Amino acid sequence: MSLKIQDINYKHSSKFSLKNISLTLDNNVTAIIGPNGSGKSTLIKCIVNMYKCDGEIYYQGENIKKHKKEFIKEKVGYLPQTSQNDASITVFEAVLLGLMNTLTLRINKKQEQKVNDILDAFELQHLARNRINELSGGQLQMVLLAQSIIKEPEILILDEPLNNLDIHRQFSLLNIISNLAYEKKMIVIIVMHDINLASRYADNIVVMKEGKVYTHGIPKKVLTKEMIREIYKIDSEIYVNKQGKQVIEFVDIAAETEKYKLVSQI
Ligand code: ADP
Ligand code: MG
Repeated sequence: MSLKIQDINYKHSSKFSLKNISLTLDNNVTAIIGPNGSGKSTLIKCIVNMYKCDGEIYYQGENIKKHKKEFIKEKVGYLPQTSQNDASITVFEAVLLGLMNTLTLRINKKQEQKVNDILDAFELQHLARNRINELSGGQLQMVLLAQSIIKEPEILILDEPLNNLDIHRQFSLLNIISNLAYEKKMIVIIVMHDINLASRYADNIVVMKEGKVYTHGIPKKVLTKEMIREIYKIDSEIYVNKQGKQVIEFVDIAAETEKYKLVSQI
């Protein structure tokens, strides 16, 4: 299974545009990294049809242009970067809403079981009867993720889902989604900032810079000291751990950057 995007172009304003993005995303975990404002969310919104962009998208070799809306509704689970939710419904009901496509007026035992299974997997069962507007930011984030996963989408797109989460929940979320990618052959695209977690969990990493793909490929190829200096203006050291994964130690702001000069003048 693969999702191929070709020559995606999109213009927000005269100041920012996405330029000629072409990528093939397989049924594994792809992390999108890059500085704030590099176009990660814009690219994702183009894929999920929130922005009308130029370019083509192919799923299993077939152009989805003619039925993009239905395609997104049926096959894609999407968790936006910032989600506000003031609705006065319970955690159980919020997760159940993820089944909207198939929901009949009365929920059956099977649907109820499905919600309970996912609440267990996400360690949310104890909150099931709480109202979602009374949850902490991280708890709400896990509920919204559960909602986007429950319909078992073939493509799961998460925009900075680790924000607000404690370390346990960050690992728990990444374990859940990487298991989904392998067991259900799901295409998972996850925007994240933590490069060490990307190194550990992603099969592929896409690095964005100023509306373009700066580089992409397996972590070993993409995660280099040169890339980190070029993209983040940070000096780093890279080690390989027992699992053969690269671990990045961030040392300091690269000496040649303007920011460094400014700080050293204070
Ligand atoms: P990222 O997700 O990588 O932090 P975004 O895709 O959100 O970056 O934003 C990329 C650029 O587009 C930024 O310069 C941002 O200011 C601009 N931008 C984002 N959304 C809008 C919008 N709705 N209107 C105009 N400019 C926008
Ligand atoms: Mg963003």
